[in-house]
Amino acid sequence: MIDQMTCEETFRRLDDFLDHELSASECLLVQEHLEICTICAAEFKFEAGIWSEVRAKLQRTTVPPSLREKVTRLLRDTNCSDSTEK
Ligand SMILES: [Zn+2]
Repeated sequence: MIDQMTCEETFRRLDDFLDHELSASECLLVQEHLEICTICAAEFKFEAGIWSEVRAKLQRTTVPPSLREKVTRLLRDTNCSDSTEK
């Protein structure tokens, strides 16, 4: 049996998961955890909402890829500092 991910591990991977930067196996682990854990699923929904909002905005206003990258990095940095507190 494959190791189940803890909430902490899942939280740490949520950004990469949303950004499709996880390996297939990690992706699966996150997905599995989201299915059994309502806390992480709620957090995922919340983050996914922000992401789709930002993505939609970026798509409406044609921004240069460099700026898009900057925003993406900024978002991730913010999320990282948030997830350190318990
Ligand atoms: Zn969880």
